[in-house]
Amino acid sequence: MNGKLYLCPTPIGNLGDITLRTIEVLKSVELIAAEDTRVSAKLLNHFGIKAQVTSYYEHNKREKGSYLLSKLKSGISVAVITDAGMPGISDPGEDLVRLCIENNIEVEALPGPCAFATALVASGMPTGRFTFEGFLTVNRKGRLEHLEGLKSEMRTMIFYEAPHKLLSTLRDMLEVLGDREIVLARELTKKYEEYRRTTLGDALQYYEENAPKGEFVLILKGADPDKLKEEYISSLPNAEELLRLYSDEGMRAKELTRRVADELKRPRREIYDLYLKIKDTL
Ligand code: SAM
Repeated sequence: MNGKLYLCPTPIGNLGDITLRTIEVLKSVELIAAEDTRVSAKLLNHFGIKAQVTSYYEHNKREKGSYLLSKLKSGISVAVITDAGMPGISDPGEDLVRLCIENNIEVEALPGPCAFATALVASGMPTGRFTFEGFLTVNRKGRLEHLEGLKSEMRTMIFYEAPHKLLSTLRDMLEVLGDREIVLARELTKKYEEYRRTTLGDALQYYEENAPKGEFVLILKGADPDKLKEEYISSLPNAEELLRLYSDEGMRAKELTRRVADELKRPRREIYDLYLKIKDTL
């Protein structure tokens, strides 16, 4: 019989946040796949967990994936843990889950700590609909493209960020998305846990004066639907512009007013009245 893959969330700062069931599962499996075995050793020692530990991280996930699959197929159950939080969320784990599913290995995820869910619920931002954007890439072009794609996103957006990249991320967000509300959740569950509820512009100014330290989750307000509507309407060509454009193409009055009225879905009479007003300047 095949073994089972357990996804085991670990604390994101406070060791007390591990669940009883996670400890139970980590004690019951023969093999634990850990992102950084040195980081996990502290946790495992603290809870007296003695299973064999092997590394599974971004750069060895292909070979290690096959190795772990062979263990699972031989009947050994494996627990996956990462340095912090829920495996598979901006962490190794996703590929292994897919590999197991493709090979009919049972996968069980245990609920537990996850930085983004913790930050979101305490942020005060709308939680009904949100998107998780993970880390922006380090490549500036890629970052700007990612942010451009979020310009009309109305849902609350969640990002992960490291302290040394925070300033450039805030600058890029302000440039592409305009000033809006943001909550910066820092060092969650740790001694210096902090929620800074502010705007992109003020956050940038604050962290330019106070070097960012610790780990951050950024909760960004979605686009304002009224503003989006205004921008959309002002981006549409107006009737006068279209009348001039098509009259330059040599269209006659009747055809011209019919075409503009149809394109803008306006009554023909209205467009014809406008035409009469400006016809001498066409
Ligand atoms: N799998 C983890 C989870 O479930 O949240 C996330 C791992 S990801 C590699 C690490 C990022 O998560 C950090 O750069 C930071 O953005 C966020 N993070 C992790 N722990 C945090 C904490 N205690 N406070 C704030 N953010 C944290």
